[in-house]
Parts: sequence; C-alpha cells; structure tokens
Amino acid sequence: MAEEVRIIEDKATPIKKEWEEYARKGNWTVKGYEMVRALSGPGRIEDGEEEDFMVIYRPHGVLYRHSYGLVSKFFKGLIDKTLYGTKCPVCNTVYCPPRVHCWNPKCRVAETEWIELPLRGKVHTFSVMLFSADAFLEMLPFVLAYVQINGADTALPIQVVTAPTDIFVGQKVRIKFRENRKGDLMDIYAVPVKGQTTPEDSCLHRNNRDIEHLNRDLENTYAFLNKRFGIKKAEVERRWKAK
Ligand SMILES: [Zn+2]
Repeated sequence: MAEEVRIIEDKATPIKKEWEEYARKGNWTVKGYEMVRALSGPGRIEDGEEEDFMVIYRPHGVLYRHSYGLVSKFFKGLIDKTLYGTKCPVCNTVYCPPRVHCWNPKCRVAETEWIELPLRGKVHTFSVMLFSADAFLEMLPFVLAYVQINGADTALPIQVVTAPTDIFVGQKVRIKFRENRKGDLMDIYAVPVKGQTTPEDSCLHRNNRDIEHLNRDLENTYAFLNKRFGIKKAEVERRWKAK
C-alpha cells in the first residue's frame, strides 16, 4: 500500500476555499446577458448595417494543482530567499534552472546534487517587451532576459528591472527577491550591478536606427499605458530608478 502523503506546510487553504464554489457548481454556467446594437455585413466596416446581437456572460476559470516534483527544492528556495541549482557529479555541469538528471549523454542520466548559488549573474540574451498578455500589461515596458548565474552553465529566464535602452548582453546583474513570494519564477528579478557603462557596440547601440526604433516603440507603449490605465511615463521610469 502506498504511504500516505504527509503535508508539512499548507499555504493553499484560502485559495482552495475561494475556488470551492467553482469546483462544486462547475464553470460555463451563463450568469447574464445583454443586447448590443452593432454593425454587420460583408465589406468595409463603415458600409455595415446595424443589427441586434445577444451577448452572454459565462465565467470560465481553471485552478491548476500540480507538483514541482523533484525540483521542488528550487521553488521552496525562492520562498526562503535562497537560489539553488544542481550539479552533475560526473561531468560537473551546473544547472540553474535545476535538472534532476544530467542532460549530458555521456553521464547516462546521472542524478544531480543540489548546490546553493550566488545571487549574481550576467545577461546572456534578452527581449524588450512592449506589449504582453493581460496579466503583465501593467508591468510594461519590461526586459526579459536569460541570466547566467555565476557558476552555472545554463541560463535562467527572469525580468531585469532596468530602462529597456540600457540593457546589453554581458551586463552583470544581481538577483533580488520580491516581497510577496509564492514559489514561482516571478518571485525573483534581476537588477544591473551599478557602475557599468553600455558598450558602444552593444546590439541596441551599434547603430542609431535600432535605438531610434526602440525609443519610438516605447513612446507607443507609454501612450497605451496612459490611455488604458492612466499610468504616466514618469511613473514607469521611477520603477527602474528605485532599484
Ligand atoms: Zn553530467
């Protein structure tokens, strides 16, 4: 008989209660409707004719419940403000994010060992996000980077809190922990180590056209943020300076 799972810590009860009604009644039940008059027909919108449409409101949500399995220590480490990686005892490859088994074919899926890593690294590559899915819109514009933690051979995808025009490949960063940690990669972010200057030949700065395009696109994002949320450009710039 399988041994019973012993729960040693439970921070999930409030969210389980919140979702109890959904679990019992199910999703997809229609909660209400409205009638909307809108344009219809082929061709251009301005040539359309008005029709009555019925719009229904049917809430739909999903509460995922899944295990981090044998990499649980990494995510519990984020909550406890410690960054863990794993090391292969055969080839010494260091993984962060961790892997439970070595990926090197020569090591024949050797089991790795947990090691604590420093809260320092460097930018391996990056993207500037000027638009996003709903959940991240208020964070715009932001930089997502693959950061290679010092001592690791792989790279961790995290946010770098900095002006998008200042990011560059090879930039040294420090890893910081957010206040309200829940056990996922959003619990951490990186900030540039102070005193670095952007190299003139960095991918954003080696020709003026690229940085001009980025600045123009950033202005469009600021205009969107202002219109949608009332967020001002100056408020966004303050987020980067506060770090
Ligand atoms: Zn190995």
